[in-house]
Amino acid sequence: MRVFVASLATETNTFSPVPTDLSAFRGAFYAPPGEHPATPTLCSAVVPALRTRSREQGFDLVEGTCTWAEPGGLVKRQTYEDLRDEIVGQLRAALPVDAVVMGLHGAMVAQGYEDCEGDLLAHIRDYVGPDVVIGATFDPHSHLTALRVRNLDAMNAFLEFPHTDFMERAEQLVDIVLRAMRHEIRPVISTFDCRMIDVLPTSQQPLRGFVDKIRAMQGTGRILSISLIHGFLAGNVADLGTQVVVVTDNDPRGGEHLAHELGMEVFGFRGSTRMHTLSPQQAIARAKAAIADPAITAPVVLADIWDNPGGGVAGDGTILLSDLIHAGIDNAGVATIWDPIAVSFCEAAGIGARIHLRIGGKAGPGGGDPIDAEVEVRNVTTAAWQSFGESQVPLGASAVVRIVGTQIDIILNTNRTQCFEPDIFSNLGIDPTAKDVLVVKSTNHFYAGFVGIASEILYVDAGTHYPSDPKRTKYTRLTRGIWPIVENPHDLT
Ligand SMILES: [Zn+2]
Repeated sequence: MRVFVASLATETNTFSPVPTDLSAFRGAFYAPPGEHPATPTLCSAVVPALRTRSREQGFDLVEGTCTWAEPGGLVKRQTYEDLRDEIVGQLRAALPVDAVVMGLHGAMVAQGYEDCEGDLLAHIRDYVGPDVVIGATFDPHSHLTALRVRNLDAMNAFLEFPHTDFMERAEQLVDIVLRAMRHEIRPVISTFDCRMIDVLPTSQQPLRGFVDKIRAMQGTGRILSISLIHGFLAGNVADLGTQVVVVTDNDPRGGEHLAHELGMEVFGFRGSTRMHTLSPQQAIARAKAAIADPAITAPVVLADIWDNPGGGVAGDGTILLSDLIHAGIDNAGVATIWDPIAVSFCEAAGIGARIHLRIGGKAGPGGGDPIDAEVEVRNVTTAAWQSFGESQVPLGASAVVRIVGTQIDIILNTNRTQCFEPDIFSNLGIDPTAKDVLVVKSTNHFYAGFVGIASEILYVDAGTHYPSDPKRTKYTRLTRGIWPIVENPHDLT
């Protein structure tokens, strides 16, 4: 038995000003065949999962390229075609195989390719033929298309948002594929289109209970796996929206029935799932009250939820930091502001230098104006990193600057990435627990890491240009009505 595995992943915000090319993949994560680290990355956890099983179960594992780019704008056509052809070429060289497992994201859009993953899976199916088992893992912030389902035998998506279960989901998918490869089961994919788009965090109700319920249903009867594709707000694509995916052991009728039932339950949650958000002024007032309270010693975490590089924006927004400074909060940590120019100035000036620095606000409109300040360069490094569960996420060359006259420490980085865990601060010499306020650029992935050190977590909508309101976003590619753009897409009476 012989299994091929590879991973090609990014999340494309088609509204973002930051183009995505090969350097974006090479700078974030690029592992040629055999060079994937022992630890998983978000979309490549199928590799370590398969390595373990290959040792235990004695099949041949052929590794192809695994690569990921931080979410950004449209992928250059040549970049997508080169990476696709690289992986498909590795697969052709590995033939014959009995199974193919792909670690995908599912929201990748390139110039001329609205459905990159569908195109890639169609190429793979062309080469291996109908009898080889093909399975893939997806991020739930993706677009499910008929082309993907047609070319896959099995799939699943992470159930949790924050995506704390990516390793567990990779292991589940790998087990389904291996059992199918041995003809112990015959996986069939059933889907239901919820005809909606929303933000669906599972760290709170109603999604918490829903995920717990579907988790318990998996493995009962003929249900192999259940996934909820949340959809991805920032993708101007035809298939934008939420879908339920049920993989059964050859029970398409049962799978369809269950997907429909669960999908309408999710449709019933519409409009009630988002995190409660505050304006910067409301959040700062809450933070000030916490600072004034001697009983509260842990930091207040302000999540700048829409200036999140993990959603494809530049992540160089300054609105919340600027408001903090003007409100007189003078002991804060900021992770991060993406600013390669400022980092290069800090490198040139050196640790300990005091310089006048223009910070952030450079990539485009919507994130606020740059902040001009005298700063002390507190740290400079060529390769900062943070944890995300078991994986390490590189920040690239980075600097820490402190605004003179305050204890406001700002991490400036060159590899755009959202903030996941408090070691983003401590790895660079900032004690996050000693700060009154921590500003993190992340929608919800930071939550699991920060909940243990925060006195309070506040979600802040600073009014940046992320397309967070579907009613106002100009989606030009949609081919069906979805809520909230259409009030009653299922024609319910
Ligand atoms: Zn996601």
